[in-house]
Amino acid sequence: MRYFVIISTIGLFLFLGSCQKPNYLVLIDKGKSVYQIVISEESSLVEKRAALELQAILEQISGVKLDIISDKTPPSECEIIVGNTNRKELSEIIPEIEQLNEDGFIIKTIGEKLLIVGGNDKGTLYGVYSFLEDFLDCRKYSAKVTIIPTKEKIVINRMDVKQEPVFQFRELHMPDARMDSAYRHWHKLDFKKGKNEWGMFVHTFDDLVPVEKYFKSNPEYFTYLNVQRIPDGQLCLSNPEVFEIVVAGLKERMLEKPEALYWSVSQNDTYKACECENCRMEYAKYGGYSGAMIHFVNKVAVEFPDKVISTLAYQYTRSAPENIKPADNVNIMFCSIECNRSRPLSTDSLSNSFRKDTEDWCQLTDNIFMWDYVVQFRNLLSTFPNLRVLQPNIQYFRDHGIQMMFQQGSGGLVSEFVELRTYIISKLLWNPDADVDAIIDDFVYGYYGPAGKYIREYIDKMHDALEKSGGNLGIYGYPYDGINTYLTPDLINEYEVIFNNAEEIVANSPEFLDRVKTARLPLEFAILDISLRDVNEDLTYFTKEDGKWIIRDDMLKRLDEFTFLAKKAGVTRYWEHGNYPDDYKATVERYVNSSMQNHLAFNKPVTLYTESSEKYPVGGANALTNGLKGINDYHFNWLGFEGPDLIVIIDLEELKEIKSIETDFLQEIKSWVFLPEEVQYYYSADGDDFTLAGSIVNSSPENRENTFIETFKLEFEPIKARYIKVIAKNKGICPDWHPGATYPAWIFCDEVLVW
Ligand SMILES: [Zn+2]
Repeated sequence: MRYFVIISTIGLFLFLGSCQKPNYLVLIDKGKSVYQIVISEESSLVEKRAALELQAILEQISGVKLDIISDKTPPSECEIIVGNTNRKELSEIIPEIEQLNEDGFIIKTIGEKLLIVGGNDKGTLYGVYSFLEDFLDCRKYSAKVTIIPTKEKIVINRMDVKQEPVFQFRELHMPDARMDSAYRHWHKLDFKKGKNEWGMFVHTFDDLVPVEKYFKSNPEYFTYLNVQRIPDGQLCLSNPEVFEIVVAGLKERMLEKPEALYWSVSQNDTYKACECENCRMEYAKYGGYSGAMIHFVNKVAVEFPDKVISTLAYQYTRSAPENIKPADNVNIMFCSIECNRSRPLSTDSLSNSFRKDTEDWCQLTDNIFMWDYVVQFRNLLSTFPNLRVLQPNIQYFRDHGIQMMFQQGSGGLVSEFVELRTYIISKLLWNPDADVDAIIDDFVYGYYGPAGKYIREYIDKMHDALEKSGGNLGIYGYPYDGINTYLTPDLINEYEVIFNNAEEIVANSPEFLDRVKTARLPLEFAILDISLRDVNEDLTYFTKEDGKWIIRDDMLKRLDEFTFLAKKAGVTRYWEHGNYPDDYKATVERYVNSSMQNHLAFNKPVTLYTESSEKYPVGGANALTNGLKGINDYHFNWLGFEGPDLIVIIDLEELKEIKSIETDFLQEIKSWVFLPEEVQYYYSADGDDFTLAGSIVNSSPENRENTFIETFKLEFEPIKARYIKVIAKNKGICPDWHPGATYPAWIFCDEVLVW
């Protein structure tokens, strides 16, 4: 028995050796090849491009340029068949090709031939790139960094590969994916603007029924809120004339772009739905705001049976409706903007309501366009350890049968790990089950060279810390939000050591060093931004010398260096709506120069007589004498009062000669933040009897736009006092002309300075 087995094994080897072809094809060897690339003369431009790309990259690898020939040439034994041709090998697999999803492809060896063919022409191009990537180790890490290894011999094993996308639409809103079509093709991504399928795209109410054109003559077309119609809300969807205008507007635009299939009829990028009686009746009938929206959009969709009308399920319309479902030709753009990003959507208890909404919508329709968010939007250049939720989130959408994916990143702007993040998400959009660990390793070692292991260590450490802490991660956050979770002072020190090691190991490789320095920018930004809050001896812009606070030169230099490197790395802003590098630097310098002044009230006890808001905590009343000033952002160091006046008494702890008192206030009317109407300054020796030193009436227009800081400074003949009282008069409610009319107005003060 034993002998028999051995003999028969030998027999099998002999059989293979003599009759069977080898298990591999030699495409190119020692500067020569017997292969030609075959395409059809009827090939589309995309298929021709696929053949040309294959030809060019094989030449880069081996130095051998294969001929591209027409399938009118008689077949030969050794061919690489790209796309649809007349070759008989192709006809053998036609049923398989016909079954492929859009953009899918087959890579297969038959005899001595290699076939790369897609279900459509783009599929063929994707097949070529996958072949180059998966079998010949080519990489496209970014639009600028493509790795093509050189090899004398190109040998491939026999193969039979089929790949199909899980998502029929895959768009990634990141710089390379958005602006570089070569990157997009390599990574099999879509781009809505490159598709003629979209006629209008999101937030279209104002386009369709312009406020400029109609608000004056027909305010009833717009949101009714707080006893009046307002121009900066939504449309009054129960108004039949609004429906007529929307339909007429669409008809007109469709004439200009008849090929477009998708037309968005969707809310403006704000809340403020109409609260008129008729609209409220619809909300009651259809289970809320989204119900009235679907009722309206369904009616529009009836007018355009050959088109798809798309609308948003976003913020106030995110929950699914009741007693109504989207019509067959209505598409729902479902948005996850509010969700926490430190844990997967599928399991995070903070995402319970999001999961309910997902399930509810998926019950009503399978025509869902998922709009997900993958970067830190408030501080694009901040650290943002969400890489571990990317895969489970994309899998979650896949598991719910969602077919269209839009991953909103930093658009055209640089954000943290912008190349790596784009790379990972691209891979996941094609294959949600891809091995992310392997992808990250492949990327960091390829892109950062020997520093890759440190970059990996940094990523792991930060994600581990966040996970262990149980902390949350919002897309509109600040580095300081992580001070107790993934950006503790100790961890920051450890991250810095890791980056020092990374920079050291590639110190003599300028390219890798540049990339490492760019990868380090978010950590630097976090350190600089957290230091504005004077956290400890390291994380601060100030130091004490001879009992006086002085500004640390080393930190200002660090800010300089950071600004220089950020600009060098192509960073144009730190926030999607602004915060340019030079502006940020100027803001910080202004803040540093005006903070920690050794004025008489510095660090003195404060008693508040009105209630400050806890919505933007800065440590309560002591913020007014802690020395730290605010910047052009009400989230930072400003003590806010939502409605009430500010009334505060500061105890200088002994009688002092004083000659001036000043306070700064912030105005940002779009956030309902106004300057006080008047600021009154009083003084007292005993804390009971106060004398008015004087008051400053606000002279700045209440409708002045943008964000600015105003100083209310009173100077007077020197007097002796121990107690200072400040009363800043809030207007109480937002003015009539303002969208927040009838709602409380804010005032924000950072510090009371006494000299
Ligand atoms: Zn209404």
